[in-house]
Amino acid sequence: MLVGATSLIALGLLSGSSCSANSSTETQLRQRYVVAQAQGAQVAEDSSFERPTLDEIPLREAEPQVQLSEEEWRARLTPAQYQVLREEGTERAGSGELLHVKEDGTFVCAACGQELFSSDHKYDSRTGWPSFYAPISEEAVGTKMDTSHGMRRVEVHCSRCGGHLGHIFPDGPAPTGLRYCVNSASMGFTPADEAPADETPADEAPAGANSDGTAP
Ligand SMILES: [Zn+2]
Repeated sequence: MLVGATSLIALGLLSGSSCSANSSTETQLRQRYVVAQAQGAQVAEDSSFERPTLDEIPLREAEPQVQLSEEEWRARLTPAQYQVLREEGTERAGSGELLHVKEDGTFVCAACGQELFSSDHKYDSRTGWPSFYAPISEEAVGTKMDTSHGMRRVEVHCSRCGGHLGHIFPDGPAPTGLRYCVNSASMGFTPADEAPADETPADEAPAGANSDGTAP
């Protein structure tokens, strides 16, 4: 147990790429190694880009507006969602339903519905968790330092309900250099074509909008 945990921590520090190191099975250890390999390859590809350091990631813990008892959260969430959002758990790499979502849309908090991430900022980090280089807005998420499991990581949570989403690593792509490593179980997805339309319909556009022949 002790040996397993130590190896896991060492791998976590080396890769800096996993969402968590709170498991100790051999399978997950091997998985983490594969993740580290994949991540190493990606970092090497764009090594010219200067990334921020871990300490340069701004920490801003959010004061949740939505506060329910743990019983209420249990009733509202599935066991998998509860484990991630309320117990800061981590889903198995590669297991998330939203991992391979590539269509346009918005990723929302599975606990309170707040919009968290846009498909515009999603990229394939090859880590096995949905990854974004930025949140949909600065106000959407809060951050805090997480020193659990013998590592220093920046934890990221929903600013509205405090639900744990994942961690931020300074190994993402330009322009931020950040990777928001988010558990699929902590989010829902609203495709762009199903989002409530709040734009003025074309036939109600102000008179003359297109009369000069230019595109809107
Ligand atoms: Zn939330």
